[in-house]
Amino acid sequence: MSIHDRYRLSVVINAKGTYTPLGVSRSSDGVAEAVAQALPEFFVMDELGDRASEAIAQLTGAQAGAVVHCTAAGITLAVAATMTGGDPRRTAALPDATDMPNRVVLPACQVIDYGHSNLQGIRLSGAQVDLAGDENGCTAAELEDELDGPDVACLMLVSSRLTRGEPIDLVAAVRAAHRRGVPAIIDAAAQFPRIADVLATGADLVLVSGQKYLGSPTAGLVAGSWPLVQALRAQEKGIGRGMKPTKEAIVGVLAALEEWQAVDRVKWEADQLAKVEEFVAAASRIPDVIAETVQDPTGLQVSRVLLKVADAKRVATELEAGTPSIYVMTDRTAEGELMLELIPLDADEIATVLARLWAVLT
Ligand SMILES: *Cc1c(COP(=O)(O)O)cnc(C)c1O
Repeated sequence: MSIHDRYRLSVVINAKGTYTPLGVSRSSDGVAEAVAQALPEFFVMDELGDRASEAIAQLTGAQAGAVVHCTAAGITLAVAATMTGGDPRRTAALPDATDMPNRVVLPACQVIDYGHSNLQGIRLSGAQVDLAGDENGCTAAELEDELDGPDVACLMLVSSRLTRGEPIDLVAAVRAAHRRGVPAIIDAAAQFPRIADVLATGADLVLVSGQKYLGSPTAGLVAGSWPLVQALRAQEKGIGRGMKPTKEAIVGVLAALEEWQAVDRVKWEADQLAKVEEFVAAASRIPDVIAETVQDPTGLQVSRVLLKVADAKRVATELEAGTPSIYVMTDRTAEGELMLELIPLDADEIATVLARLWAVLT
């Protein structure tokens, strides 16, 4: 009996991307097996943390790495690391941040909502947020103005499709922080494949979600400078207690990192593009549908299917209401657009999506 039948759960075809309310991603059989091997075993958890640090450092070129519960936890803990600098007294005092640098500068156009606001993720540490610029953008002068304020603990930046307004020059922003001795953190949760590029901005800590494009169990991966990563890991004896990684998550991350390095990325990207282009050709045969291949806007080597249809909202609602329940990206239904990400889908699921599109649209 399938797990969906056993617990009376909807069968889902997820063409919505690495979306948390749908279970995010599919782990490979190899990762699932490593997790199953870990669950009945005991470990010295610090050793597991050290092996994860070595694996993340080796893959990214960073000095050190850490695994935490998820990226939302990573945001809180990375800020805490910059406020405490690893001082045990400060670590125990949080979220009371009296007598520590406790202000976090964040461009206002990078306030995002991934289920909650990243403002809350930052504030959970005890820090306060100073927004630079407005939701349409943040100039260098506006950023520097906030960085010149008192008690700045760090600069927080976001590399994501979810940001608004004019894109920020991340390299210039990190430099502006470093000129003032302020560390910079970049939340790049959905950009695991670009982690080395994001680190190349000079950021002190970079955060990515393992359960998104790495396909590990739910985990936040942190890569960055040795002292700040140690200060972040030290939070496990403080506010990070409830944000700790599980043993199965760390082992799953280790297995997923090994698999990632063994895969031929060029071939993988070509295969994924071929899958999208085949879908676009097939969807274009549906009357009154315009289908296109679009590239991820943030530089991720991921292509998606764009469908232009009349009444996009109704189409999405009917796809979700059927069995299996098909989810697509619906941020632009008002403009008559649906977007589909096909990476985790197999040939049968893709055939089902096309058949249902024919049924709903004709
Ligand atoms: C998904 C996401 C998060 C949250 O990541 P979790 O691992 O689910 O906590 C944070 N920031 C961005 C930009 C995201 O895309």
